[in-house]
This record gives sequence, C-alpha cells and structure tokens, in this order.
Amino acid sequence: MVGETVTLAGWVTRARDLRKIMFIVLRDSSGDIQVTVKKDGSNDFADLDLGREDVLKVTGKVVESKVAQAGVEFIPDSIEVMNRAQQPLPFDLFGPVKAELDTRLNYRFMDFRRPRTNAIFRVQNVLLTSFRGFLSDRGYLEFQPPCVIASASEGGADLFRLPYFEKEAFLAQSPQLYKQMCAISFEKVYTITPIWRAEKFNTPTHLNEVRQMDIEQAFADDETVMKVLEEILVYMLIEVKEKCPGELELLGREITVPELPLRRITYTEAVEMLQGAGEEMAWGDDFSKPQERRLTDLVGDEAFFMKDWPSVQKAFYAMPYPENPEVVHAFDLLYSGVEISSGTMRVHIPELLRQQLRKKGLNPDNFTHYIESFSYGAPPHAGWSIGLERLTMTVTGMNNIRECCMFPRDRDRLVP
Ligand code: ATP
Ligand code: MG
Repeated sequence: MVGETVTLAGWVTRARDLRKIMFIVLRDSSGDIQVTVKKDGSNDFADLDLGREDVLKVTGKVVESKVAQAGVEFIPDSIEVMNRAQQPLPFDLFGPVKAELDTRLNYRFMDFRRPRTNAIFRVQNVLLTSFRGFLSDRGYLEFQPPCVIASASEGGADLFRLPYFEKEAFLAQSPQLYKQMCAISFEKVYTITPIWRAEKFNTPTHLNEVRQMDIEQAFADDETVMKVLEEILVYMLIEVKEKCPGELELLGREITVPELPLRRITYTEAVEMLQGAGEEMAWGDDFSKPQERRLTDLVGDEAFFMKDWPSVQKAFYAMPYPENPEVVHAFDLLYSGVEISSGTMRVHIPELLRQQLRKKGLNPDNFTHYIESFSYGAPPHAGWSIGLERLTMTVTGMNNIRECCMFPRDRDRLVP
C-alpha cells in the first residue's frame, strides 16, 4: 500500500493543529492512521477546523515515517469533511476519565467506538459465529421459535403480557416448547433467540430481555447434551482466543481453556460443600449469585457442571429419576463463578408430564397442545440454553451484564 494513491474514510480521533502542519489521527474499523497535513499554501487545508468524531474522506498516499507510531503516515491530496460531529461530545471516548455506564448506554452508538466496548462486541460476534459453525457442522438444524405465545412455558411467573387482538398473549420466556416440538421430528436443532423475563429486580447478572443460545436433541439424555455443551464451550473459547487476541489483551482478560471432561458435581454435593464452608442453606434451596461464586472457589475449577437437581427447583418438564422422583435429570454449567447455562432431559411421556404439572400446582388442561405433541411417537430428548450476554460477560471478564448487551433492557431502561 505504501506509495499508492488510496482513499480512506473514518472518524477524527484527535486533530492537532500547529501553525505549519496538522496531525490528524483518523480511525476506521481496521484501526488508526496518522494523517499529516502540510499547510504550506499548496493546498486549501488551512481552515478545516476539525473536531473529534468529524467524519472525513481523504485521498492521498501512505508513506513510511520515522516519527509516526505505526511506521507509516498518510499524506492527503484531498480532504472531504463528510459530516461534522456536534461539540462537545456527550462523553470523552478516549480520555483517561471513564464515563459512567449509564451515560455510555444513553449514547450507545458512540460507546461502540470506544476500544473496550468495541472489543466486547467483537468477542461476542466470535461467540455467535463459532456457536453456529460448531452446530451446523454437526448436522443441527437452526430453527426460529415464535416470540409471542399464548401460554406460559415455565409456569406463570415473570411473564410480560400484551394485548393481541381480542386475546391476551405473552412474550416468550424461553423457546422451550418449540424446541422440543422441533427436536422430536428434526432430531437435532438449535436457535439463537430473544426471550423476556419480567423479573423486577435489578442485578449485575440479569436483564429483562436476553438472547438465548439453545440446542435440543432427540435420542439423548442429560449426559449426551452436557457433552455437547462442554465441547461447544471449549470450541468457542478456543475461537475467541485465536480470533481476538488484541481484544482480550485490551480487556485484560486471559482465557484458560478448560480440560475436558469438566467436573460434574451433584446438587447434593454442592449443598454439602457450601454448608461445610459455613453457608446457611438447606437441601432444596436455590443458590444465590454469591453462593455460586463461593461454590466455584470451593470446587476450584473455572468451569464445572452441577447436576441432579431437586425437582422443586426445576421446571415441570424436567425428567425425574424413577427411583427418586424428588431429583430430576437437570444440570447447570457454571463458568467463572456464574451460571451460564441450564439444561435438562425432558419428560416425553404424556402421563408423566401431566403428573409433573399437577405436582407443580399447574393445570394439565392448560397444556393440552404441549402434552399432545408427545402422543405420536416422541423420542426421549434433552437440551440446554446458554445466555449470550452471561457468556459474553464471563468470557470478557465484565462484572455488569449491561456491558455485554448492545441495547440492554432492564427495569429502568427501555431506550435507546
Ligand atoms: P438465574 O437463576 O441466573 O436467574 P435461570 O436459571 O432463571 O437464571 P434459565 O431459565 O436456566 O435461567 O435460562 C438459561 C440461561 O439463560 C441461564 O443460564 C442464563 O445464562 C440465561 N438467563 C436466564 N435469565 C436471564 C436473565 N434474566 N438475564 C440474563 N441472562 C439470563
Ligand atoms: Mg438456570
């Protein structure tokens, strides 16, 4: 490229105007270049009066430079100001003072230009493409579930309601019923889909709109899909390490790819470990987020499975152990101290499903369509769901999930 005439377009990171010469740091998605403008009367660049984030198109030559940081600089023949940025900017993109998360989220389009934010979403992009690549290479079919649904999939709570013509409808809390319907005929399916949870609390690990990355698989039990889950996690981590070394360095995150198989501890063992460490909890309780972190310290592995959960803690569709129906074929995957995924082997026998619904205080009559889908040759099946933002959060080492969602929706935030 050195010596050739080229055209570049991008944003002004900064411009330093000296009397005879002006240095512009011009930035595009591939990085920065120094544009050196000589104001010797041979051009009309004298009164450009550039501000940060002005958008420029420059045509000229790249030349070697002893002084410019990259070893090259750009000498323009023409400079076109494509658009001006209003000054002052809402926050300083490259300065030493960090803007508040709220301010950055209010101006998210600009925040995307910050190197750290940009790096988070480049990592997220690799997570998404590697997830799709891994599964489509192994014969999984991508499906699209509906997001507006007629009844609750997880049993009532935390649902957003909306008017739907003469009826009432809900925003899906999970693609659960649809992925099961697909798996019992297509065998191996996956989806990346938004879901909504009307949880009222505001925490660093919860959003009200989440992107879930799910698989569902026929002729499979919980152990079959746990294997897929640990393999895809490792694959995604390797891909991020390979494709985003610069981003990881910028974020100060070093990824250690876990060795397989991951450790599997039972729910009961986990409770005993925490009790032994002085935590007040009883068999049957769920783990708080601090307890999940504590447990990770006690287990000593960055990633591990917790399996064989009490039936009371999991949805009605989780398959109970026949010899001990208080325990179900369910698992969580903890990574970096946070639950990033949950899965179960599902109940595929209509009568058992009715029984499980009644046990949860739900009326099987409200689930007729769902139950009916298992009446015409449904193989045993299992699946899981990874939260995209949770995964991105743990992989990039962020401590607030809002950093890892382009346009987060929480109790207080509905714009932009
Ligand atoms: P938690 O116990 O952490 O609130 P959950 O067990 O209710 O989550 P699941 O129904 O198991 O969530 O959903 C599967 C995955 O989706 C979770 O492991 C998590 O990664 C992600 N997820 C679920 N709810 C949320 C949420 N409100 N915000 C962000 N991610 C979520
Ligand atoms: Mg869960």
